[in-house]
Amino acid sequence: MLRVGLTGGIGSGKSTIARLLVENGAVVIDADKLAREVLEPGSDGLAEVVKAFGEDVLQADGSLDRAALAAKAFASEEARQTLNGITHPRIGALTGQRMAEAPEDAIVVHDIPLLVERDMAAVYHLVIVVFADSATRLERLVTSRGMDRQDAEKRIAAQATDEQRAAVADVWLDNSGEVPDVTGLWDRLVGFEKNLRSGAYASGAPIVVPYDGRWPAQARRIARRISLAAGGRHVEHIGSTSVPGLAAKDVLDFQLAVEDMETADDLREALGQAGFPYVGPYEDTPRGEGDWSKRVHAGADPGRRVNLHLRVEGAANWRWAVDFRDWLRNDAGAREEYADLKIELSQRFAGDAGGFAYGEAKEPWMEAAVRRVEAYRGGQES
Ligand code: ATP
Repeated sequence: MLRVGLTGGIGSGKSTIARLLVENGAVVIDADKLAREVLEPGSDGLAEVVKAFGEDVLQADGSLDRAALAAKAFASEEARQTLNGITHPRIGALTGQRMAEAPEDAIVVHDIPLLVERDMAAVYHLVIVVFADSATRLERLVTSRGMDRQDAEKRIAAQATDEQRAAVADVWLDNSGEVPDVTGLWDRLVGFEKNLRSGAYASGAPIVVPYDGRWPAQARRIARRISLAAGGRHVEHIGSTSVPGLAAKDVLDFQLAVEDMETADDLREALGQAGFPYVGPYEDTPRGEGDWSKRVHAGADPGRRVNLHLRVEGAANWRWAVDFRDWLRNDAGAREEYADLKIELSQRFAGDAGGFAYGEAKEPWMEAAVRRVEAYRGGQES
């Protein structure tokens, strides 16, 4: 099952996009709807609310008087926390239940307005942010929803900012004008879900592209996801995409610090479920041939290629990745040399889907780099 988080400011068009995804076959879980469900007449949630806030939050027919509850719950931070303490665990449990009920091959879209405010991004395989500028949202809320203008303004101001949402967006859908076409996005989700279920990862030819200024933000998002799946362990962005200004294959490399290789093997399942299936080395690789001092995983998302290396923190191969990166970050000449080499090799091996020949051809330069990195490291330490 692929878990997709869908968020955006109030009136941005989340429900509109969710509907389009449902038409394609997604299963949608609507957080606002579940929030109402946990306080339905007869629910234990509503009983708890009455116990905490009094009978006067009920209407004559026994259902919740939302305005009366809002007046009490937003009167103080303590009251707000009391209400959240009642609703959040129940909404969480219901969300889990709905996820569990979805078919194994489902693409589950969680429409959750407060994804950013609740710091939830890393629990999803992918986060979609629906964007519309605040003036457009205000107009839509006032004209098509009939919301009071001041009330709408207040609500918009109380939510996360566009920058905060951009920081968690794997996919940014601009819904300021025409409703965007989701065909390409849907194909990506279908491919992602298939890979996830079969344990396959995204691959492609080693095409070197100019440095992309979006890489650091993408890496921060993905690193958080990996770390969460790995019990909070330390994740670093390494490799060419971690060196500002360096041309690179559009594949983000990460290194996950583990205590030992047994731990790495224990994490295999969880990382696979989080969207980073195992690549190797395999059990049938002769011990002398595979590199058994690390475990390699890769990203299942066809829209964002990722390599993930599990290495023992502080070990020689772990340090090399960090030092090589830092050397390139600090040495403009080395960066240029390396970029020229990569561009030349990527053109020479453009038809090589796995990138193995490309990797091998890079070896002589890399071997020479070992001494240069050592010299750099020595300079740093002295
Ligand atoms: P909420 O946060 O309140 O749940 P939402 O983000 O789900 O809102 P929608 O209900 O999808 O937003 O859209 C808000 C309003 O704007 C609706 O009346 C919808 O029909 C309208 N709308 C959505 N997208 C567009 C668009 N691209 N152009 C014009 N109107 C739109």
